[in-house]
Amino acid sequence: QPVSSHRPAWLEISASALAHNVAYIKELAHAERFMAVVKANAYGHGLPEIVTVALAAQVDGFAVATLDEGVWLRHFGVTLPIYILGVTPANQANILADQQLTAIVPSLNWLNEALAALTVAQKLPVSIGVDTGMGRIGIRDEAELLATVQTLQAAVDKVDFQAIGMHFATADGAGSDQAYFEKQMARWHALVDPLDLPATVIKHQANSASALWHDQVIAHDMVRVGAGMYGFDASSGVLEARATQPVLSLKAELVHVKQVAAGESISYGATYTTTEPTWIGTVPVGYADGYARLLQGADVLLPDGQRAPIIGRVTMDQLLIALPTEYPVGTVITLIGQVGQEEITLVDLADRLATIPYEVATGLSPRLPRRIV
Ligand code: PLP
Repeated sequence: QPVSSHRPAWLEISASALAHNVAYIKELAHAERFMAVVKANAYGHGLPEIVTVALAAQVDGFAVATLDEGVWLRHFGVTLPIYILGVTPANQANILADQQLTAIVPSLNWLNEALAALTVAQKLPVSIGVDTGMGRIGIRDEAELLATVQTLQAAVDKVDFQAIGMHFATADGAGSDQAYFEKQMARWHALVDPLDLPATVIKHQANSASALWHDQVIAHDMVRVGAGMYGFDASSGVLEARATQPVLSLKAELVHVKQVAAGESISYGATYTTTEPTWIGTVPVGYADGYARLLQGADVLLPDGQRAPIIGRVTMDQLLIALPTEYPVGTVITLIGQVGQEEITLVDLADRLATIPYEVATGLSPRLPRRIV
């Protein structure tokens, strides 16, 4: 993919907002360590930019989804712990050990296969995954968990037993979801409390929602935080607002401005026809940038804080807005972000698209240049 450095459309990454969010969440959750979750191109924010500002904010480690994302971080120069949250095929244990990437142990079988595959001198760093009700990966059974711990302790020359963790399924929901959260917590205690773990083993459970809204989570040896660090609301407005700040803005310059007469149709399908003479601005952002086609009708913000609607179809690389008056070519348009008192958030766009802000953010294409501000 060619690097986009000349486009008048870009993402701004606020280093100060991210630093605020890291300090705020660490304090609120009384967390000893803060692991920055940067999978999927740092939730679409841009991996190199986010890693750069997260290191400056003194995070204690990174989490990604895949082995390749972990290897990329090592090549970028990251020396902090890096967890691979997904299942890494056991036959890739040598790469994990060589790069010192921490694997989640999803089962005893996986551990035995990884130990059998391991031939390099470095120890394999691991964190046991415990499935307390997310139902995705991890060990659910007491006997299997005990056997896994014993296997790790018997293999101290080959593995570095760093941590044990779980993942909550409903921490971002209201009302009855609290009962499921507590059920997961109880299963964790039932499974993990009886284990005689070395004091050096880190216990980690909390994602953003657990860290921000569930102070009964006891073991904040470490929190694993994505959404909260990026400053979007993991609960999409369901739970009480927290004082995190949005890290990302999506901006572009008007590349073309014209006035059309009444009765003129705009964009593919001629779905919009002007009813009066209208100033129209062309914004060089489209669905190929992750700004969804279904956002037709959404607003953007003008530099004076006025809102302007997107008219006609959003196309692959460009969209059209109805301006209240003439604005010059080069005017900066905010598609996501704040201008004065007005703000368009990832949650606003997600609501329009009947999805969650995570999906909107991760859809932002690498074609958009990222600028740290
Ligand atoms: N931990 C695990 C295992 C995850 O899969 C994720 C993200 O999906 C996170 C932590 C971070 O979640 P959030 O972005 O809600 O903080």
